[in-house]
Amino acid sequence: MRMVFLGPPGAGKGTQAVMFSEGMRFLHLSTGDILRANVKRGTEIGQKARSFMEQGLLVPDSIVIEMMLDKIKTSEAGKGFILDGFPRTVYQARRMDEELKGLDLTIELVVYFKTSIDIIIYRLTGRRICRDCGANYHIVNMSPKKEGICDKCGGELYQRKDDNEEAIKKRLEVFNGQTKELIDYYKKQGILEEVSGDLDAGKVYEAISGILNDRDKNRT
Ligand code: AMP
Repeated sequence: MRMVFLGPPGAGKGTQAVMFSEGMRFLHLSTGDILRANVKRGTEIGQKARSFMEQGLLVPDSIVIEMMLDKIKTSEAGKGFILDGFPRTVYQARRMDEELKGLDLTIELVVYFKTSIDIIIYRLTGRRICRDCGANYHIVNMSPKKEGICDKCGGELYQRKDDNEEAIKKRLEVFNGQTKELIDYYKKQGILEEVSGDLDAGKVYEAISGILNDRDKNRT
């Protein structure tokens, strides 16, 4: 299965992508994670992307598209993948569709995480991430046992530079202005399904599992 998880920042796409990629052994391709790893390693991509990311702006297509298409074309991606944070514009989606067409493949399912603004701000401002294993926490409703320390690996927790109010505002503007039109783009292809990103992770997982089960039934 080749899926796209679409939604505003803080909708829970990453959390669900981890849950489903582990359960179904799909490749989880998070554009943000790949870019952040490049920033951390100080690669050329990372150096070019850094300031855009910190301001909550989209990293230019000339950097992001090739980077993601290369990942999608790997043999590891052959058994299926979940794209989390890509595409973020109709142009990116078109480029990916063309590339997949050349391989005789398509995106099969797009899950749109419809999420309210208050929930997004609450989640993002309280989010903390482990520097070592990437596990996510929330200072109020998913706090670690020991403040600032990851329960899973003992790594240090940090707050993303773009999880401050100003950058969050910008990221939401970018979502509304450039990414939201993907809802129509995929609706027209008949592959869009909607879930509520306001629900807790277990409930969203159930909703997506239901969509996948229905698709399996309809195929047989
Ligand atoms: P995320 O981790 O998905 O919230 O992404 C963090 C940041 O990475 C975004 O605010 C953008 O600066 C950049 N980014 C992630 N995905 C894309 C994309 N598909 N196109 C351009 N920039 C992106």
